[in-house]
Amino acid sequence: MIVSMRLHATKEEVDAVRRRIEEFGYKVHSIEGEERVVIGAVGIGDVTQCLESLEAMPGVEKAVRISAPYKFVSREFRPAKTEIRVRGVTFGGEEFIVMAGPCSVEGERQILEAAEIVAREGAKFLRGGAFKPRTSPYDFQGLALEGLKLLDKARQATGLGIITEVMSDGDVEMVAEYADILQIGARNMQNFALLKALGKCRRPVLLKRGMSSTIKELLMSAEYIVAHGNPQVMLCERGIRTFETATRNTCDLAAIAALDELTHLPLILDPSHATGKRSLVPAVARAGVAIGADGLLVEVHPAPEKAMSDGAQSLDPKQFAAMMRDLQPYIELWKAQRARRLAAQAM
Ligand code: PEP
Ligand code: MN
Repeated sequence: MIVSMRLHATKEEVDAVRRRIEEFGYKVHSIEGEERVVIGAVGIGDVTQCLESLEAMPGVEKAVRISAPYKFVSREFRPAKTEIRVRGVTFGGEEFIVMAGPCSVEGERQILEAAEIVAREGAKFLRGGAFKPRTSPYDFQGLALEGLKLLDKARQATGLGIITEVMSDGDVEMVAEYADILQIGARNMQNFALLKALGKCRRPVLLKRGMSSTIKELLMSAEYIVAHGNPQVMLCERGIRTFETATRNTCDLAAIAALDELTHLPLILDPSHATGKRSLVPAVARAGVAIGADGLLVEVHPAPEKAMSDGAQSLDPKQFAAMMRDLQPYIELWKAQRARRLAAQAM
């Protein structure tokens, strides 16, 4: 059950609702937003009676039963798509947003060049890992704080927003100081200590699907972040592990459509990790636009042959420019479709 309090409901009203929920035998879980308090009631009790009683209380806007195990992130809870505004750009709204850049921040020249390339072609965010989750402990692990500082430099030089990965709960505060969006990698999708720490953080989060995770598990992980206080979450399909070896991962495109039914959170496709091969990236990116993702996360490197990680799937500057050009007619269709949908929603 979720109880949405009216805008600016008083503390006394909120406390009374909490007490009533507890009287019915539920555990209370509340999210105190800047304008509105939302209270979740979790457990077993007499739902119908409890809902009726809550709806009649002062300060309550609506009380609804949510059948999905993920509550706050479900479409049942919020039928309209969540919009996340970062640096003047809105995810989940009328814009299709491209985030691009190298897999890792490798040095000042590389990241500044990459930033200029992706900004020129219309990307709104620069990606680049300063903390890298690598399969081998002997591989490049990222420049850590120095990498974050270089990303900041690239932001100042180009005006791009910054998205970068945070790997542990202890690093959230530091990474949030430099990043506009915190990326949670596939390997950390179920790092629950990290998810809880992100709940306390004020930055938007891009949560990547674990490589062997179901859609439901992805949504439950998003629920952790939202239930701990941060509603600004977007989800990213980046391919899952299957028996197929022709691609690095199997791009579960249908996950975007399925997620769009189940959740109101913005949805991003990463065609780079989903394929592992730069020749496949533009086609899968087009498919991502067509299926209704809200944006893309794409690996681009000034010289992919020299990349310290994921060179094989990184586009070179020319390929990125071609991809962006070829995406344009798809993005035009996307915009028309999105405008129709937003209009229908407003009715
Ligand atoms: C990345 O974006 O560079 C990355 C490590 O991705 P994933 O977590 O999806 O493997
Ligand atoms: Mn990568």
